[in-house]
Amino acid sequence: MYQEFGIDEKLENIAQKVESQIKHKIKEIDDICMYNSIKVLKAFQDNNISDMHFNSTTGYGYGDIGRDTIEKVFAQVLGAKDSIVRSQFISGTHALTVTLFALLRPNDTMLTITGEPYDTLHPVIGIEENESSLKSFCINYEQIDLLGNEFDKQKIEERVKEKDIKLIHIQRSKGYSARKSITLKKLEEIIKIIRKVNNEVIIMIDNCYCEFVNKQEPLSIGADIIVGSLIKNLGGGLAPNGAYVAGKEELINLVAQRLTAPGQGKEVGPTLGINKSILQGLYMAPSVVASSLKTAVFASKILEELGFKVSPRFDEERADIVQTIEFGDANKVIKYCQGIQKGSAIDSSSIPEPWDMPGYTDKVIMASGSFTQGSSIELSCDAPIRPPYIAFMQGGLTYEYGKLGVLKAIQNIM
Ligand SMILES: *Cc1c(COP(=O)(O)O)cnc(C)c1O
Repeated sequence: MYQEFGIDEKLENIAQKVESQIKHKIKEIDDICMYNSIKVLKAFQDNNISDMHFNSTTGYGYGDIGRDTIEKVFAQVLGAKDSIVRSQFISGTHALTVTLFALLRPNDTMLTITGEPYDTLHPVIGIEENESSLKSFCINYEQIDLLGNEFDKQKIEERVKEKDIKLIHIQRSKGYSARKSITLKKLEEIIKIIRKVNNEVIIMIDNCYCEFVNKQEPLSIGADIIVGSLIKNLGGGLAPNGAYVAGKEELINLVAQRLTAPGQGKEVGPTLGINKSILQGLYMAPSVVASSLKTAVFASKILEELGFKVSPRFDEERADIVQTIEFGDANKVIKYCQGIQKGSAIDSSSIPEPWDMPGYTDKVIMASGSFTQGSSIELSCDAPIRPPYIAFMQGGLTYEYGKLGVLKAIQNIM
C-alpha cells in the first residue's frame, strides 16, 4: 500500500525503525491526552451540555444559550474566570488585535518580552507602518528580545519595576523565527519574576498552537489573559472558524465591548449554526492535538535521521505543535512543502508556490490541503523564503494521515 501511495520501500523501512524509537514519546503524549480529555468531559458535564446548546441564533444573537454555555465550558477547560469564543473573531490575529485595542489606551505602553512578535502583528502594533495601528492611536511599543532561547530576566525585571507599563505580551509559539517555543516552566518562572516587582501589569499570552500540548494552560500559572485561534488546537479540526480569549472577568468584558460595541459586549453575536461544531471540535481537541504532536515527533526523528537540523528534537520537551526543519536550501524547502500538499486529502493536485501574502515580509509558501481554509491544526507546512530556509510544519487530524503527509514530503525531496 505504501508503494501504491508513492512511498518507496527504503523510506518505509526507515519509517518503521523511527517508529520503534519514538514509542516512549508517544506514550507521554497519550498520557497528556488522557488528562486533557478528562478536563474537557468534566467541563461538558458540569455545564450540562445538551441538544439545546446546538441551537442557533441569527441577527443580533440575543439570548444564545449555546454560545453563553460554550464560553463557560471554554473558561473551565482553560482555568479562566470567563471567556469569549466567537466566530466574529476572523482569526487568531483578529482576536489578538481586538484584545490589544481593548486593553490599551492612548499613551499606554505595551511591552513584548519574547522578541519580535508574529508577522501579522507588525502592522497591528505599528512595527510596520499602518494608519490604523496601535501606534497611530498613540500607544507605545517596547520590545525586549530573548537571549537565545531564554527570557532576558534582568532587563525584564528592571523595566517592569518602573510600573509605567500597562501590558506585557508573551508569544509562546515561535512564529516564523528560529527560536524555541516557550515552555510552561519558563513561562511560570518569568511570571513570578514580573509579579515580584509589579502586581498591576496585565500579562497577556499569545497561546496559539499551545493548547492541550501540556496538562496546564498559562492562566493556572499566573497569566491574566490568553488568546488563541479555533482553526488551530482548540477547534479540533471541526470549528469552521473563530477564536477565543480567556482570562479575568473584567478583562474579558473589555474585550467583548471592543469586539461588538461599548454597551453591548457579550450579549450580542449570532452563532449562525456553528455551536455544535465548536463543541464537537473542543471535544475532539485533546486527541487531535495528540495526533499533531505524534506527527511532529515522527517528523522530527525521521528528518534528523536523514541529516536535517530539526527543532524540537524528537525527545525534547514541547510547548506547541510546531515542528521546524532547516533545509538550508530554497529548492528543498519548497519541495518539502509541495510534498505535504501532495499528501493531503483536499487539493492534493495543487502545487503551492511562494507568494507575497498580506501581513508577511518575505514571500511565503503555504501547503495546506485542509477541509477548512487556512486551518493549521490540519497537516500544514509553511516556509518564509529566506535563509536558513526553515519549514514550519504543524497539525495532523490523525497520526496516520500526518505520517503519510510527512513521508510523501520526504519522498518529494529525495
Ligand atoms: C497562527 C498564529 C497567530 C495568528 O493566527 P491566525 O489565525 O493565523 O491569524 C498569531 N500568533 C501565533 C504565535 C500564531 O501561531
